[in-house]
This record gives sequence, structure tokens and C-alpha cells, in this order.
Amino acid sequence: MSRALARGDRLVIATHNPGKLAEFEQLLAGRGLTLLGAASLGLAEPDETEDSFAGNAALKARAAARASGLPALADDSGFCVAALDGAPGIFSARWAGPKRDFIVAMRRVHDAVSASAQPANAAAWFVCVLCLAWPDGESECFEGRIDGALRWPPTGDNGHGYDPVFQPAGETLRFAEMTDHHKNTISHRARAFLGFAARLPEPCR
Ligand code: IMP
Repeated sequence: MSRALARGDRLVIATHNPGKLAEFEQLLAGRGLTLLGAASLGLAEPDETEDSFAGNAALKARAAARASGLPALADDSGFCVAALDGAPGIFSARWAGPKRDFIVAMRRVHDAVSASAQPANAAAWFVCVLCLAWPDGESECFEGRIDGALRWPPTGDNGHGYDPVFQPAGETLRFAEMTDHHKNTISHRARAFLGFAARLPEPCR
């Protein structure tokens, strides 16, 4: 039987990104947990030195759990393109450069595919891995993935990151053209959260 969280538990959200913290607060609302942001606890932000989404999510969650003595949740996510052997992948944020300019990042992906050995291969996907770690070092990861196609040019004003160039399979719109609600129902993050939800107390009615 896997370890689970109970009502009244404190859970560290192992991110220093206020947007991510707010998103987790929404996802975890009504579960009876007290959420603590890593920054508010003064926890250090570890370098993402692993070579996989799960490795980096586990590294962040384990560091926060060890330092705080509390269970901790971390995530790692990114955009993967088949013609680029899965790049930018774990380097998705870094492809946007120090200014985090995703117009630049999307153009970089487009140009790299055009110059690749498979310029007509549009297959692409997003991955999100959530990791729940305990202070004794035990941890469990939950992966969500959504497959689709890289589309050019960027279209749509919603969302963030690579949303304007990604169209999920079976959908007529890019992520950036969908309502938040629609995207959040089908996204890689929603799918990872479904697995993690089995470790949460039932929501209040
Ligand atoms: P992380 O904060 O290390 O997980 O970086 C994730 C990066 O992947 C973000 O900066 C985005 O570039 C990209 N990414 C992850 N999820 C999404 C998404 O839902 N839409 C668009 N870009 C995403």
C-alpha cells in the first residue's frame, strides 16, 4: 500500500515560482491540507541536474522534504518534439533564453525541425511529472503526457510557453486558442495530477 496524505497534513510545494504555487493551491483546494511554499520556508532552490523529468521532479521534492521535515510535492514539465529526438524536453525553459522569451524558443524549435533529418515530422508532446517525497527519502512520481503536433506559425493568446505551437491530437485548436478550463482538463499536468490524486484525502463536499 502506497503512502498517502491525510486531512490536516502540511505539504510543502517545492517551487519558488509564485505562478506554479498558485496553480497547485487551486488544484489542491478543499483537500484539508495546509500548503507551504518553498520560498516562504526559506528553502534553497536546487539545480536541476538530472537528465529526465522524473529525475528533476524527484530531486526537487526530496530536497524540500529533507530540509523541511515535511512531505513535499514538486513538478517538472516540458515540450518534446519527435524530429528533435525529444528536445527541448527538460531544457524547455532554457531554450527561451535568460529573458524567458518564448517567441524566441518557438522559433528555435521551428528552425531546428526545418534543419533536421525529419522536417515533415510534426509529432510533439508535453510531459509533466509530479513527485511526492517524504522526509525519510521515500518518493513516488506520477507522469502525464499529451500527444499532438507542432504547428507553425504560433497562434492564440491564451496559456504560456509553447502553447501557441501545440495542437493536441483529436483537437481543432492549439493550446493557446483553448479556454483555460479546456486545456486544464486534458493537459499533461491534469493527467499527472490524476495519478497523484490517489494519494490525496477526498475533497470536501
Ligand atoms: P519547469 O518549470 O522546469 O517545469 O519548466 C517547464 C517549461 O516547459 C516551461 O517554462 C515551458 O516552457 C514548458 N511548458 C511546460 N508545460 C507547458 C504548457 O502547458 N504549455 C506551454 N509550455 C509548457
